[in-house]
Amino acid sequence: MRDIKAAVFRAANEPLSIETVQIAEPDPHEVLLRTAASGVCHSDLHALEGNNDVPPAVFGHEPAGVVEAVGDQVSNVAVGDHVVACTSFSCGSCAQCFGGHPHLCSNKLSMSGRISGGSRLSQDGQPIAQMSGLGSFAEMMLVHERALVKIDDDIPLDRAALCGCAITTGVGAALNTAEVSPGSSVAVFGIGGVGISIVQGARIAGARQIIGIDLVEDKLALAKHFGATHTVNGNSADVVKQIKRLSNGGVDYAFDAVGNKLLAEQCLYCLRPRGLATLVGAIYPVTDKVELMAGHFFVEKRIQGCYMGSNRFQQDVPRYLDLYKQGRLNLDDMISERMPLDNINEAFAAMKAGEVARSVIVF
Ligand SMILES: [Zn+2]
Ligand SMILES: [Zn+2]
Repeated sequence: MRDIKAAVFRAANEPLSIETVQIAEPDPHEVLLRTAASGVCHSDLHALEGNNDVPPAVFGHEPAGVVEAVGDQVSNVAVGDHVVACTSFSCGSCAQCFGGHPHLCSNKLSMSGRISGGSRLSQDGQPIAQMSGLGSFAEMMLVHERALVKIDDDIPLDRAALCGCAITTGVGAALNTAEVSPGSSVAVFGIGGVGISIVQGARIAGARQIIGIDLVEDKLALAKHFGATHTVNGNSADVVKQIKRLSNGGVDYAFDAVGNKLLAEQCLYCLRPRGLATLVGAIYPVTDKVELMAGHFFVEKRIQGCYMGSNRFQQDVPRYLDLYKQGRLNLDDMISERMPLDNINEAFAAMKAGEVARSVIVF
């Protein structure tokens, strides 16, 4: 058991509270990490607003760090290794895992528990939950070995952290889920961390036209910076018409990075016949219904879900970091600000104001 500093969720819509908590030592298949950096994601804000987790809990699920200690059965990483952690850990032996879709592993929950049964995080003996099995808004993290992938030592850890969620989700949505083809046209709704990553994925895939759509003019400039060829302001009355005009009748692929009923509809409506819409952002509440005009299906338009970029992150993250080293994936400019853990509530304020691409907590 060690004392560490963590940002603790105590009550919905209240600032996270910086406190000293206790972290356990690794069970046989667990790894203790020294957190180096953690991105702040919209899902963290969603949790802060009281939609998922019951307090007390530690949020944060987009981290990179350095291995501090390993359980006696851990074989994939060693002390001193640089790693990215991802919430898409998987058992490796269920039908989804064998089918090549480990991000949809059906045994994931059974892997969240500990052999020793105790809580990984606690305070004076009272358990504290870890968001997504990670909990990276803390100086250290204790995680299952299958939540980790080793990366090269020369990658800056603040940039590597983005691969824990935003990059894996967005670039993966373009490359894995939609399989954007070279020479195609693409529309991306919502230019935050995930939307920028989809734009970059489409660019890497060789799309000839990438249309970024957002309500904020600064974000449209950001879309162009990362590879969009055109932009449309989402406030305009004829968003779908504008996209169809730009793409000469409709795009081949459309993505909703936000998670919004209206955008899901617009994604389908701005497609050419046989085009493919991919819903990347989670729509809340999950019981909401998306209504779609039936006529669009007469021309074989398709719409599909996407969970965390259909990732196989142990394979994907090193590939993305190779693209980073080659200058083809821009991680440097995705970080709009770095801040210490003590200032984490400012990151949420900036996100609510729609001011930033990504804030990263650095330790
Ligand atoms: Zn996230
Ligand atoms: Zn599985």
